[in-house]
Amino acid sequence: MWYNNILETIGNTPLVKLNTITKGVPGTILAKIETTNPGNSIKDRMAVKMIEDAEKSGKLKPGGTIIEGTSGNTGMGLAMAAIIKGYKCIFTTTDKQSKEKVDALRAFGAEVIVCPTNVEPEDPRSYYSVSSRLEREVPNSWKPNQYDNLANSQAHYEQTGPEIWEQTEGKITHLVVGVGTGGTISGAGKYLKEKNPNIQVWGIDTYGSVFKKYKETGIFDKDEIYPYITEGIGEDFLPANVNFDVIDLFEKVTDKDAALMTRDIARKEGIFVGNSAGAAIGGLIQLKDKLKPEDVVVVIFHDHGSRYMGKMYNEDWLRERGFLQDEKLTAKSILAK
Ligand code: PMP
Repeated sequence: MWYNNILETIGNTPLVKLNTITKGVPGTILAKIETTNPGNSIKDRMAVKMIEDAEKSGKLKPGGTIIEGTSGNTGMGLAMAAIIKGYKCIFTTTDKQSKEKVDALRAFGAEVIVCPTNVEPEDPRSYYSVSSRLEREVPNSWKPNQYDNLANSQAHYEQTGPEIWEQTEGKITHLVVGVGTGGTISGAGKYLKEKNPNIQVWGIDTYGSVFKKYKETGIFDKDEIYPYITEGIGEDFLPANVNFDVIDLFEKVTDKDAALMTRDIARKEGIFVGNSAGAAIGGLIQLKDKLKPEDVVVVIFHDHGSRYMGKMYNEDWLRERGFLQDEKLTAKSILAK
């Protein structure tokens, strides 16, 4: 038995019970581990869906060029699908993203333009603006726009949500998801709430992002926006893919807690995942008083740890940011003194 191409291996990711890191959190805590997708992240699902949608509507034509502002994971999915389907890719990303992510995109033959992080989205140097300009200038090009393209959340409505429902045999009570474009939480959350409206959908946000305040007050507060370290989640604008009606609450997690928790998932569960998984577990632990022992909680682990080797899996990086100051002494650290 074989697959006809790599894209057919996307999805049907495992659901794995967490046994150590969430000790003290009531309920059964299950992680949906999206690292087994061929691009090592959940974003493969929506990348293929956006491309197939654009092919159907005629926006993407044979031999065309895909241009997108992406932090890496969406780019991986798009680059992989582009190879199979015969398109070229140009990506814009920010200087905040892991070098590993940028190198991985280049490994797939994509052109990557790195733009400054700390500029307004409307600034001509921002990765949003640069990708929009390229779309105007490059002939036969198409910009998926993962933030506002609803094929993104639709992929999770069609795949991620049903997989979770089936894997938990309909027993899921809570879905916990880091929110970036909003595609994962809105699509999977909508599907699950249609199956059982009592399911609680919790979004994980970062300090420096607008989502939580907007959900609670309806106010888009620019004072909420400032630079942060956590990758993949939080935004400084409201993407169309964030369906606030599906999300019951947002919880913010600090950069430090997200980083240390990410490292702990590897050390305590043997699951090697990225920064937003740590943020999601950190948020879940902060919200533990809302849970009961009979609850079944699904947490999404969006991407693979290999993309963060120079960051939260690097002790110097952690120490430089003051994230390791409370760390207990180990044999190695004592010998190094
Ligand atoms: N975690 C990581 C590592 C991501 O790359 C993304 C996508 N930005 C997310 C979480 C958030 O997923 P979504 O865009 O579907 O909200």
